Amino acid sequence: PQWPDDYMTPTMADEVFSILRRLGCHSVHIGGGEPLLKPDKILDVLKMAEKNNIDIEYIETNASWYRNEATTKTVLRELKDHGVHTLLISIDPYHNEYIPFWKVKALIKACSKVRMNVFPWLMEFWDDIDAMDDRKPHSLDEYALVYGEDYLAQLPNRYGLGLKGRALKTYKPMMGKQSFQRILEESRPCRLLAGVYHFHVDLYGNFIPQSCPGFAIPLKELQYGADSDKYRIFHSLESVGIAGFADLVIKEYGYKPKAEYAGRCDLCYDMRNYLVLELGLDLPDLKPEGHYKYV
Ligand code: SF4
Repeated sequence: PQWPDDYMTPTMADEVFSILRRLGCHSVHIGGGEPLLKPDKILDVLKMAEKNNIDIEYIETNASWYRNEATTKTVLRELKDHGVHTLLISIDPYHNEYIPFWKVKALIKACSKVRMNVFPWLMEFWDDIDAMDDRKPHSLDEYALVYGEDYLAQLPNRYGLGLKGRALKTYKPMMGKQSFQRILEESRPCRLLAGVYHFHVDLYGNFIPQSCPGFAIPLKELQYGADSDKYRIFHSLESVGIAGFADLVIKEYGYKPKAEYAGRCDLCYDMRNYLVLELGLDLPDLKPEGHYKYV
């Protein structure tokens, strides 16, 4: 809720889709935030996809925008008119912390009425969530009370959740600790940072790596190969790993390591938070700032 009320502009969407198309990408999925919070804005983005011959595989939604069947059906029909035929609908306890399950059920029903395909993510949580009162959201603590303490510890694996950002903050107290020295000894390049099998582009046109939010390189620069001198943090992690990043932050920015961390990603976040929040630095690869401020 504290994030700026921004949305991808049609100009940015046009730029991103035209680059993707030039690089050989023919289809994308659209995620958020919540892309359907502003239905008129998503239509502008979809027009740009159509203009650049990019297919939309699906739009991800958490159903929070559902108000009633009539307005929802209108939105769904407009999406279909703009080439969207599938919605990925979030079904999991993490979203149920904020969104009552009746909205998810009602959205699925509306989709079926207008023949919009539904890609439920994930059906295996349906019974767990449906056993609770669907008129209100439920905290993870409530899930632990109903299904036992282990339930929360098992959720990341069941959901396929990478422990970064808010997930790392939630699970950190349950994670084992490693010494700073041990983490450095086990350092290896974070190759997924440069992976293109699955990545995202944010509303500002930045490439977001598959596995690690809080890093960004503008797609319009990346298409020609990112400058390793400009994106030094990204480069140190991708080429050397956490040891390379630690070396840079300690020597050049005066970071003082703690004795232990909940693994290398916890150390990585601690150093990134130090740079962005404590030193207030505006570093080109550590974006968006909100990822650090509002997690
Ligand atoms: S150490 Fe940093 S860059 Fe590497 S996987 Fe963890 S969060 Fe991502």
